[in-house]
Amino acid sequence: MRIRIEKGQCVGNARCHAVASHLYPLDDNGYIATDGFDVPPGEEALARRGARACPERIIFVEEGAKD
Ligand code: SF4
Repeated sequence: MRIRIEKGQCVGNARCHAVASHLYPLDDNGYIATDGFDVPPGEEALARRGARACPERIIFVEEGAKD
């Protein structure tokens, strides 16, 4: 499973970070610091919650063969 983030559209409200700070790091200005990552085993539910928490709907869950 992979998370993809439309980083350029982030508005910096840190909702994702509040759910899972280690998965959704912020840059010095408070915007999301990554455009995606492979979800570590066992952290799928947390990654999904973080994605759902984004009011801008720019965090996408990509289910893949590597699940
Ligand atoms: S919740 Fe969405 S808009 Fe807010 S910081 Fe995270 S990616 Fe950016």
